[in-house]
Amino acid sequence: MDFDQFEHLNFRLPGPTPLPPSVRAAMDRPAIHHRGPLLKSTMRSILARLKEIHRTEQDVLVWPGSGSAGWEIAITNLLCPGDHVVVTVCGDFGERFATVAGKLGLVVHRVEKPWGEAVLPSELRGVLECVPECQAVLITHNETSTGVTNPLPELAAVARDFGALTIVDAVSSAGALPLEVDAWDLDFVISGSQKAWMCPPGLVICAIGKRAWPAYDASTYPRFFWDIASARKSAAEGMTPTTPPLQMLFALDAALDLMIDEGIDALWARHRALGEYARGRVRDLELDLLADAAYASDSLTAIRVPDGLSARAIIDAMVANYRVMLQAGQGAMTDQALRVGHMGWVIEDDLVEAFDALGATLERPEFQFR
Ligand SMILES: *Cc1c(COP(=O)(O)O)cnc(C)c1O
Repeated sequence: MDFDQFEHLNFRLPGPTPLPPSVRAAMDRPAIHHRGPLLKSTMRSILARLKEIHRTEQDVLVWPGSGSAGWEIAITNLLCPGDHVVVTVCGDFGERFATVAGKLGLVVHRVEKPWGEAVLPSELRGVLECVPECQAVLITHNETSTGVTNPLPELAAVARDFGALTIVDAVSSAGALPLEVDAWDLDFVISGSQKAWMCPPGLVICAIGKRAWPAYDASTYPRFFWDIASARKSAAEGMTPTTPPLQMLFALDAALDLMIDEGIDALWARHRALGEYARGRVRDLELDLLADAAYASDSLTAIRVPDGLSARAIIDAMVANYRVMLQAGQGAMTDQALRVGHMGWVIEDDLVEAFDALGATLERPEFQFR
């Protein structure tokens, strides 16, 4: 198997994202006693730095799992079957969040926007006015399928006006885009290790606000592995209820060192600059963003594929000729969108190369259409 082909690729997927050398090296640490002092001190330090990056004084907990597990953790710990929830849907991930909520027995009301648009606070308010029994608003902060960042602080403020909990999918925003769990008064914020956290897939990270605990006490869902109270109890000892995923925690430990060294404001500023650079290049190439420019994401850029061309063919040509790998769209837009990831371990030079390669590829005879 030729894994080496990925070693020198400019890997521009919006997750999984490239692994910094120090993160890869950390995974080479030996197995350690999973209940010993070294694990406890490592775990405590990881949780403290996760709180700092989430800008919260409250709990942050981790489990082995992918980002999607976070949807289930939030729902089964904070809600009851039959509860009414409002879900913001403006792309594939919002769609999945709504699907999970429905499968778990919630009554789902949607604030729906066409792909590429953001969900606006006035639109959420309109739906909440019709759903007085709403217990929680389920918000996708950064819609990775379309490259749209929803106005989270304003949406959370509307949810609060109606006394609903705010459950946030921040899988492709946490660690890249401004996210203030305490200042924005968010109740549950989910992310996954393979996006801006610069780690392999395998950890789900949840920031849990103070209103989550009375909701937990009232929740009637059966649960075991994802029980937030048992995870919190263990975390207070620097432990996890079951065997911790040691190598993944070592990876996160190393990634957090990089993030804290850079500084949280600097990290956010780097991503903002990367987003602006990417959008500038899209304009220069006379291509169209999939996202409404006013809400375009700084962690990835989604581009409409010109009519008559295929995202898959462009991606294959870029890999073969320029060793740059972009990602296609999602769902119904799979072949109509190109997504350029710029979250995590990435600098402007990586985007210079990626957009140069995209421009040169579109000039090739097989893509001459205009
Ligand atoms: C990647 C992603 C997920 C799901 O993550 P998995 O790790 O594949 O389960 C959920 N929401 C958003 C916004 C994402 O970008």
